[in-house]
Amino acid sequence: MYTQRPAEFTYHRPTSLDEAIGLLAKGGDTRPLAGGHSLLPMMKLRLAEPAALVDIGRIPGLDGIEVEGDELRIGALATHASVAASELVREKCRVLAATAEGIGDRQVRNRGTIGGSLAHADPGADYPTVVTALGATVVVRGADGEREVLADDFFTGVFTTALRQGELVTAVRVRGVESAAYVKHRHPASGYAVAGVAVVLRPEAARIVVGGVTGTPVRATKAEQAMEIGIAPVDEAAIAAVAEKVPAALSGALSDTYASGEYRVHLAEVLAKRAMKAALEAA
Ligand code: FAD
Repeated sequence: MYTQRPAEFTYHRPTSLDEAIGLLAKGGDTRPLAGGHSLLPMMKLRLAEPAALVDIGRIPGLDGIEVEGDELRIGALATHASVAASELVREKCRVLAATAEGIGDRQVRNRGTIGGSLAHADPGADYPTVVTALGATVVVRGADGEREVLADDFFTGVFTTALRQGELVTAVRVRGVESAAYVKHRHPASGYAVAGVAVVLRPEAARIVVGGVTGTPVRATKAEQAMEIGIAPVDEAAIAAVAEKVPAALSGALSDTYASGEYRVHLAEVLAKRAMKAALEAA
C-alpha cells in the first residue's frame, strides 16, 4: 500500500563514530541514516521498515576532503555538492567532481553523501561506476575495527555490497588522474544513469567501467585490453573498435519501463565512445 509515512522506528543521533558503531552493533534491523535521499523515500514507500535509525549526519570529522600521500581521502559524509565544489577534487580528480555535479538536482546534491551512495549501491547511481574505474578503496569500520575494500570487490549485487552487518563506510580513497571521463544517459525524471560509462586512462592501464546496465558496475575488460593509451583523440575508428568490445562484458542487462536491456547495452557502446574521446581530450 502506498503511504507517505514510514513505519514507526526509533531514532538515534550519535555524536561520535564509536557511539554510532556501538548502536549499530546491537543488531536488529538498525540502519545508518546519512543524507536520507535514498533511505527515506524507501521508508515512505514501506520498501524499507528499519526498527531503528542511527543518524550519522552530525558526527564531526566524517565529511572532510584531504590529500593523503598520492591519494585523495573523501569522508563518507561529504555531500555531492561539496565534492563538486572542492578545489582539491577539481584539481586532482576532475572526473569525480564532474560526476558529483551531475547527480540528481540541487536538493539531492546538498543532502546526499558519497558514503550513502556507495553503501546504497543503486545500479543507476553514478559514484559506484566512477570509483570502480578509478580503482578506489572504500574504508569501512565496524565493531571489529577498520578494513579496506577495493571498489572492485565492494559492489556485489543490486543494492548489495561487501559491508557486513553494523559496518559503516567512513571514507573513500582515490588516486588522482587527469585523463578520465564519465558520460551517462540521464533518466529524465531523476538524473540516475540509465547507462553510464567511466573511462580512466593511467600510463600503466586503462579502465572502462559500465554502470546502470547490470546489477553492479562492470569492467569491460576486453575493451580495456584493446585500448591503446596512445590513441589520438580524433581517431574515431580506433575508438569505435574499442567500444565495439564493451557489450561483451554485459550479460544480464536490466530492463524496466524506461529502457530495455537491449537498449541499455546499445547505450553503453555509444557512451563508451564518448567517454573515451572525452578522457583522451582531458589529458
Ligand atoms: P541515505 O539515503 O541516508 O542512505 C542510503 C543507504 O545507505 C541506507 O541503506 C543507509 O543505511 C546506508 N548508508 C548511508 N550512509 C552510510 C554509511 N556511511 N555507511 C554505511 N551505510 C550507509 N544518485 C545518483 O548517483 N545519481 C543521480 O542522478 C541521482 N538522482 C537522484 C534523484 C532523486 C530525486 C533522489 C531522491 C535521489 C537521487 N540519487 C541519485 C540518489 C542520491 O545520490 C542519494 O543521496 C544517495 O544515493 C544516497 O546517499 P544518502 O546520503 O542520501 O544516503
